[in-house]
Amino acid sequence: MASIFSKIIDGEIPCYKVAEDQNHIAFLDINPNAKGHTLCVPKKEVNKLFDLGPQAYSELMEFSRTVALGLRKAVPCQRIGMMVIGLEVPHVHVHLIPLNTISDATFTKKEQVDKSQIFELAKHIATKIG
Ligand code: AMP
Repeated sequence: MASIFSKIIDGEIPCYKVAEDQNHIAFLDINPNAKGHTLCVPKKEVNKLFDLGPQAYSELMEFSRTVALGLRKAVPCQRIGMMVIGLEVPHVHVHLIPLNTISDATFTKKEQVDKSQIFELAKHIATKIG
């Protein structure tokens, strides 16, 4: 069965997209640790990060770096944290999280999402990604 992220990639379910290239997509996490929490996802569905081949792995890291550089311009923070968990969605994704405190890096702290503002936030981040 296709992962929820494959359904997003195929346009079956919506997302707040911030960037896309031929092989990757980046969109806002729907249950963010912190404002601007973004997921970078390879379009080809592979469950585990270290099962990616060396080229796909490097390309995902390069794509994530490009998104992170834009994200830190768009969302004031001390730094962008990068994590790979994958316990909930078995489709490789890199979490990029604007960090101000260590609790922003814990997946128990969650940010309230203002649905009227999240679309504007995604558009704002998208303008900063080069
Ligand atoms: P994990 O697989 O443990 O790295 O966590 C999966 C992440 O995907 C969680 O932070 C979820 O909030 C996020 N997530 C799950 N479904 C969606 C979705 N439809 N759109 C955006 N983010 C999602």
